[in-house]
Amino acid sequence: MIIILFGAPGVGKGTQAKLLQERKSFNHLSTGDLLRSAIKSGTELGILAKSFMDKGDFVPDQVVIAMVEELIKGKAHESFILDGFPRTDAQAVALDEMLARLGFEISAVVNLQVPDEDIIQRLSQRRVCLNCGATYNLLANAPKKEGVCDVCGNTLVQREDDSEVTIRKRLSLYQEKTVPLINYYHKTGKLREINAVGSVESINSQIIDILSVNS
Ligand code: AMP
Repeated sequence: MIIILFGAPGVGKGTQAKLLQERKSFNHLSTGDLLRSAIKSGTELGILAKSFMDKGDFVPDQVVIAMVEELIKGKAHESFILDGFPRTDAQAVALDEMLARLGFEISAVVNLQVPDEDIIQRLSQRRVCLNCGATYNLLANAPKKEGVCDVCGNTLVQREDDSEVTIRKRLSLYQEKTVPLINYYHKTGKLREINAVGSVESINSQIIDILSVNS
């Protein structure tokens, strides 16, 4: 089973996907996390990806499509939650073709909606642990000790692409390239909209309700 979590950068896709992984045993497949991990390991893919990501640009389609296929192939009996993929027309078309070939079906496309100004506020307050991947918000979910990860004790940092200028660029790229996909998925009858301004728990239970109807 495949669930696509849709929404602009900063709407909380990663947070929700991690909860669904814990609570519903989905595999969380975040293309952003995979690319950051490649950057951390200093691989050729990581060096290429960094040059796009730091500027708030998309990594080329063929790179992310190959990455996703590599992870899901041979696992049609498992459930995946896609976080941050697809982001372009070409990725959506490649995903459909890949899923048909590998024997998967999309159960639901969940679109998390948050106004842009809230997103800018959320992302500029976001701090992340590059060691264990935990994320914090300095206003809503601050670490117990300033600048230190509660989970592993590593230093927290601001992602390079979470500066206000880069956030605005990511939001405009989202509008231009990714929003048209909402219509694409609307036509399949699988699109479900959620107002994602509320608490993490209330949004999570809305997603779980959708999944129970669509699984
Ligand atoms: P995210 O963590 O999902 O916000 O992704 C961070 C950055 O990784 C994005 O701004 C892009 O530069 C890159 N990225 C992640 N997923 C994709 C994708 N599906 N297509 C192209 N670039 C991506």
